[in-house]
Amino acid sequence: MSSGNQKSRLNPPGNDVAEFSESGIVNERILMLVFEFVNWDPHLLSRTACVSRKLHAVAKRLLWRHLCMSRAPRMVVALVNGVPNGYQVGGGWHVLAKLLLFCCGCESNRHFRVNQSLPGHFAKTSRFSKTSGRSFLTKKFREDLLYVSDPCEHAMEGHEEDLGVYRGVFRGFRRSKTRDCLIGRRVELEENVRCPYCGARVWSMTSAGLVPKSAWRRLGSHEGALEYFVCVNGHLHGFCWLAPLSSDEDDDELDEDIDDGVHENCDSQMEEEGRPSSSGEMIEVGSTVDWLGHRSFSSPPV
Ligand SMILES: [Zn+2]
Ligand SMILES: [Zn+2]
Repeated sequence: MSSGNQKSRLNPPGNDVAEFSESGIVNERILMLVFEFVNWDPHLLSRTACVSRKLHAVAKRLLWRHLCMSRAPRMVVALVNGVPNGYQVGGGWHVLAKLLLFCCGCESNRHFRVNQSLPGHFAKTSRFSKTSGRSFLTKKFREDLLYVSDPCEHAMEGHEEDLGVYRGVFRGFRRSKTRDCLIGRRVELEENVRCPYCGARVWSMTSAGLVPKSAWRRLGSHEGALEYFVCVNGHLHGFCWLAPLSSDEDDDELDEDIDDGVHENCDSQMEEEGRPSSSGEMIEVGSTVDWLGHRSFSSPPV
């Protein structure tokens, strides 16, 4: 009986839809408060989005966006700034959330071989920077805005060098010079590789001949020891072999490279030691919840 009362309080008789439509603002406020309280826990959010189509829609429109803003406020502002329909990002907010928090792992492809597959995983912390992104753009396309993470480093059995896995995202990819060039040159989309974030088809940037030297220098890799793909929604994912930490000579080259091109002071610096990096934006998963896996996260309900 008490459950019946409870139900009637939450849902007036014959008005099931109203919970999410007419009185939707109230419910959305509650959802916002709840998720704010749990620090936008992505695992909880992906499970909530699986509960019903209505909740899925609210999550897609509102909650994932707030999760992204909670983890990377500056980056989100930059990504939507000046983009028509700036409340949307390529592939949707749930895809951006996954890209911010999840290292996609690595499987062999025709451009990059590994002796064993590396599964994807949540990255405890990640740092994205547009200075780093600029290193992945040839000079002609440096007007495009691209954020790229520092590589997530993995020791690989039977391989001296560590594997670096990195990811990134373009602002307004549909209007970018990079996309114009890929289309203009009629670069073929890859047959067997899909974007690990949105599932869309991808271009290989090595096949397209659009990998500048600055990319492997930035990563701390060797020429030819890297690959990255860009999907039709503007998500980047890639792999490289990480050379042992650079010598002084390499650092000098990198300094020149970073000074070459436009960058903002607040987003460009070298770490005192270790691999090159920039201040960028540090992103943490930010939850104490024990992860139950990423299946629901990687395959949001439709
Ligand atoms: Zn990783
Ligand atoms: Zn994608």
